[in-house]
Amino acid sequence: TKRQGVTICKGHKNYELMLNLQLGIRHSVGRPAPTKSLKLKPTAFDAEQKLWTKFPPEGSKHTPPHQSCEFKWKDYCPLVFRTLRKLFNVDTADYMLSICGNDALRELSSPGKSGSFFYLTNDDKYMIKTMKKSEVKVLKRMLPAYFEHVKSFENTLVAKFFGLHCVKLSGPIQKKVRFVIMGNLLCTEIPIHKRFDLKGSSHGRITDKPESEIDANTTLKDLDLKFIFRLQKDWFQEFCSQVNKDCDFLEQERIMDYSLLVGISFQDTEATEGEAEPDCIRTTSGVSSTDVDLNPARWASVRLGINMPARVEFTVRSHETQLVGEPTGEFCNVVLFFGIIDILQDYDISKKLEHAYKSFQYDSTSISAVDPRLYSKRFRDFIFRVFTDDS
Ligand code: ATP
Ligand code: CA
Ligand code: CA
Repeated sequence: TKRQGVTICKGHKNYELMLNLQLGIRHSVGRPAPTKSLKLKPTAFDAEQKLWTKFPPEGSKHTPPHQSCEFKWKDYCPLVFRTLRKLFNVDTADYMLSICGNDALRELSSPGKSGSFFYLTNDDKYMIKTMKKSEVKVLKRMLPAYFEHVKSFENTLVAKFFGLHCVKLSGPIQKKVRFVIMGNLLCTEIPIHKRFDLKGSSHGRITDKPESEIDANTTLKDLDLKFIFRLQKDWFQEFCSQVNKDCDFLEQERIMDYSLLVGISFQDTEATEGEAEPDCIRTTSGVSSTDVDLNPARWASVRLGINMPARVEFTVRSHETQLVGEPTGEFCNVVLFFGIIDILQDYDISKKLEHAYKSFQYDSTSISAVDPRLYSKRFRDFIFRVFTDDS
């Protein structure tokens, strides 16, 4: 499959921004690591570097000379993110190399509607998302709870955050660009043939791309889904328990609008190179097939949502707006990757207004802007219908 995004070369409109970002990260990550422990003092969470670090092109006492424009740099809660990286087993040198190595980043063609930009590191490991001021506020607010949550549940499905930063461009318009660095959920050696962004709502939840433009990099939505996912029993139990914990956490933090991102790699395919939708070999057996994938090397790296062998059962909808179609009894072996993304939208006043407005026109539970409790309920109801155990 072809790689996602456009490499940011010299002349690209965000070339300098990319250089700034790389310089800034190298500056913050490169500083000597303090404590080795995973315990943090409460003050770590409000420690915002009040001072901006200035990066003049000619260099300064603390910053190297560079080829970009002059800019300023700020890290949010650097100690917390350093500890998170440690918790998530991110090696500092590898992290720097992925983001600030000689390879350029790639810019994705705005995958979301919110106006954020997305960048992928050349090795596909990290995804960088520009953020609105309100999203930074939400992340800062929930950081202590987020830290506790991801520390308590090593199988958590919520997006992994590794850093939160801001670049301020010098000059008359002091434009600020805020961004978060997270793990790319779909980073894998094996090909991802389809990806779905699932919320459990039906309104507008269908791709607007014509069939001919849909490929393996297209993010499909709830109404495009024509399978249910069947996980092995013990994995399914772990999945349910973790989705419940993660949703409780998000609900408590008054978060909504998040999705379960699912990447599917079809096994036993009759694919020709580069084909978007390979024909997988369907079987009609209702019982677990034994030929899933017994390669121990693969199994060793299976974690909840990472590299998980499963089966999909094909479904058909009886009408266009039906969220989950009827099972057909036809199966295909797959490997799944999934996690919960876009968790920085809180239930603010604008959403309340949007909801009030939309309720005049649509069934109010079918749209995505509902309150966090309803959101989480609808999300779980849906997720537990499209994921089931394989028996
Ligand atoms: P909107 O608010 O309109 O939904 P957004 O700009 O907030 O959009 P996201 O929902 O965060 O964007 O992400 C858009 C798409 O980018 C997702 O559907 C997914 O395909 C991809 N994406 C986002 N985060 C990740 C991640 N951590 N790993 C892999 N892919 C991701
Ligand atoms: Ca989203
Ligand atoms: Ca969003």
